[in-house]
Amino acid sequence: MEKIQAAKSPTALQAVKGMNDVLPTESAKWEHFELTATRVARQYGYRNMRAPIVEHTPLFVRSIGEVTDIVEKEMYSFEDKLNGEKLTLRPELTAGLVRAAIESNLVYNGPVRVYSMGQMFRHERPQKGRYRQFSQFDVECFGFEGPDVDAEIMIMTARLWRELGIPDVRLEINTLGNVDERAVYRTKLIAHYEANLEALDDEAKRRLHTNPMRVLDSKVASVIEVNRTAPNLLDSLEGDSRAHFDGLQQFLSDANVPFVVNSRIVRGMDYYNRTAFEFVTERFGAPLTVCGGGRYDGLFEQLGGKPTPAIGFGMGIERVLMMLPNDLTASGLDAYIVHSGEGAQKAAGKLSESLRDAGLAIAQHGGGLGGSGSFKSQMKKADASGARYALIIGDNEVAAGTVAVKPLRNANGKPIQGEQAIITSSAVAAHLRIASDPRG
Ligand code: ATP
Ligand code: MG
Repeated sequence: MEKIQAAKSPTALQAVKGMNDVLPTESAKWEHFELTATRVARQYGYRNMRAPIVEHTPLFVRSIGEVTDIVEKEMYSFEDKLNGEKLTLRPELTAGLVRAAIESNLVYNGPVRVYSMGQMFRHERPQKGRYRQFSQFDVECFGFEGPDVDAEIMIMTARLWRELGIPDVRLEINTLGNVDERAVYRTKLIAHYEANLEALDDEAKRRLHTNPMRVLDSKVASVIEVNRTAPNLLDSLEGDSRAHFDGLQQFLSDANVPFVVNSRIVRGMDYYNRTAFEFVTERFGAPLTVCGGGRYDGLFEQLGGKPTPAIGFGMGIERVLMMLPNDLTASGLDAYIVHSGEGAQKAAGKLSESLRDAGLAIAQHGGGLGGSGSFKSQMKKADASGARYALIIGDNEVAAGTVAVKPLRNANGKPIQGEQAIITSSAVAAHLRIASDPRG
């Protein structure tokens, strides 16, 4: 085997382009999102499911479709050095979760609602809100015909926006009909593009006959213009598809979830049929899709499973975090323990553990035997830690069995100038707990 070369250039020791670190100062937002999304999904009966980050390449080619951005130019694919298998880092979650559901016969006892979170990989040009490694919160409903479930996942997402305090996302829905309706539509669409050939870029021309609906998704200005006058798939819909789409709109209205119909939503994967939807924000100038999904009734069969109607969505977590309030940087620490001297260090160690036994989050100043740094520099660290209290222990406190308690922040994490109090060691937990209860 080839010997792995030690890095010679400094860039080899930097993060890969388009792949970001999450530093401790940013992780409070991530955790807030993950906890909130998990809680809301559970409220609707969803259970967590996880599939590997690497799958066989043909899984993505067959499910997402050959003539798509993802498969044509965005996949991180490689050959396994040991056995030559063709593998790909997942660019999305649906294909892997459906593969896993088929392999484990997950829907054998009836429909299943699942959610998943994790990293995706797409070789794109990195820019704000677009990365080569990014994260998705993903939801899938296996075995449901809808349209009630179609509406339910949108109602659930609307609740998630409320819980996160994000008011400015707009729900846009569309229907892609069924295979026959799309065939009729395809013919009309090709005729429209052929009549406007001069406005199409090379990519649109190439896709015109292989996958004309992809052209509706183009981000090229002249093509967007031609798309304004393109025929509408809604006009090719027949009874069942129309009833499904009408039903969805009725359920959304009944739940007071606002939406608009946008006939240009086709989504980036071939597996979608009937319901397609996006949540879009205008907060950053050009419209930005934060969440996209739809129904994929044919995918299970296409991948070798039993016929299983299904719907799901993927939400770009980085894009959601861009919309979260900036004050979510709290460390979650109840107290930082400042101590000086060997006896005080021992007492601090005991106190820390007993406070953690009581369920509190405690950081103890660290840095060697007897503690390190002056009282002043330790207090600076206590401030920087974001903790709500500094607990101070010196020789006097050890002798008296007490602790000096100094408030640093209020319940909202805002710095405060509080009076220092001397409290018996055994009463500290109760003191912090009462003060840490936002209702107390
Ligand atoms: P776009 O049109 O922006 O390229 P897409 O149609 O490729 O999006 P999907 O495949 O539907 O996106 O993925 C669902 C969600 O994942 C998107 O709405 C977006 O929020 C997020 N997402 C997709 N690609 C990226 C990326 N490269 N970086 C960050 N988030 C992304
Ligand atoms: Mg894309």
